[in-house]
Amino acid sequence: MLYSLCLMSLDMMILLIFALEYKYQDRTRLRKGEKQMRKKSKCSMCKSKAFISLKYAGIRLCKEHFKTYFINRVAKTIKKYQMIKHNEKILIGVSGGKDSIAMLHALTEILKDTNELMAVHIDLGINEYSTKSREIFNQICSTIKIENKVISIKEKYGFTINEAVRKIRRPPCSICGLIKRRILNEYALEINADKIATGHTLDDEVTFLMLNYINGNINMLLKRKPHLPKIHEKLIARIKPLCEISDLETQIYCLINNLKYIEIPCPYAQDSPILKFKKIIMQLEEIRPGTKLSLLRNFTNKIYKALESHYSDKVDQKINECIKCGYPTSQDLCAFCRLKEKVLS
Ligand SMILES: [Zn+2]
Ligand SMILES: [Zn+2]
Repeated sequence: MLYSLCLMSLDMMILLIFALEYKYQDRTRLRKGEKQMRKKSKCSMCKSKAFISLKYAGIRLCKEHFKTYFINRVAKTIKKYQMIKHNEKILIGVSGGKDSIAMLHALTEILKDTNELMAVHIDLGINEYSTKSREIFNQICSTIKIENKVISIKEKYGFTINEAVRKIRRPPCSICGLIKRRILNEYALEINADKIATGHTLDDEVTFLMLNYINGNINMLLKRKPHLPKIHEKLIARIKPLCEISDLETQIYCLINNLKYIEIPCPYAQDSPILKFKKIIMQLEEIRPGTKLSLLRNFTNKIYKALESHYSDKVDQKINECIKCGYPTSQDLCAFCRLKEKVLS
């Protein structure tokens, strides 16, 4: 060893010392990083291992604290937008997807002692997708013991979504949305429900806002609120208790609570531009955590009010009642009756 060191030039010796020194510093830096990582991966509420990092809120949570956090946020949203009063009867629309399943579970936790709750599922008649969704709905309702009802479009109106999509030139999601809104409303009237709760998430709301900003569709923007109060005797108030909760959070809530949801996507939704928009919005959230919440809150608290005061006397003010069903409409026949006539003709 000594012999070989003697053979080494001074330059080589200096290089060797530097290398050893660098290695030492590098290891120290690594150890510091590891300590920080361990600290970072701990729950912000307790010392357990964190399960999820919520960048928009600047917190990390373990499974148990995420459950509490989720429930508290839904309860806060209900309070903030004055969605539900004590003793009101709430009809909960459940498609079987992660969002509506998470909503059903959370609303049961929050409202079971104060409100009458009823879950409803609409069988759209879309092959395997509908069969599986219905099974999941029945399963969760028997687990959480909630009164429930399944309504089949075919039995009620004489056609399925498949048949409607074949006959009408309109995006399938818009046909489906129109039919679902009508069925939910009719059933809510039938059972004297005070509110209809749907599982629209923060991602859904922000996507809708972006699409309607782009199209400049003020009429549609004015119909978008976390809580749409009753404006006509035939229209039941609608609420969105998950409007400040992301798709990712509903998925994690289902996972932590072992809640089954339909994992195959609706065959008609796969090519929908809405999904492409959702992906872009997720990228915006990555770049600037909190973007989605800011967009929704600024719309609801500022832009909606400005639009309402500026446009409310100019947009869609002609309210007639449909000559067939009596629902409010700007024309003689409402959009739903026009759709039904076309499909059944
Ligand atoms: Zn914790
Ligand atoms: Zn009508």
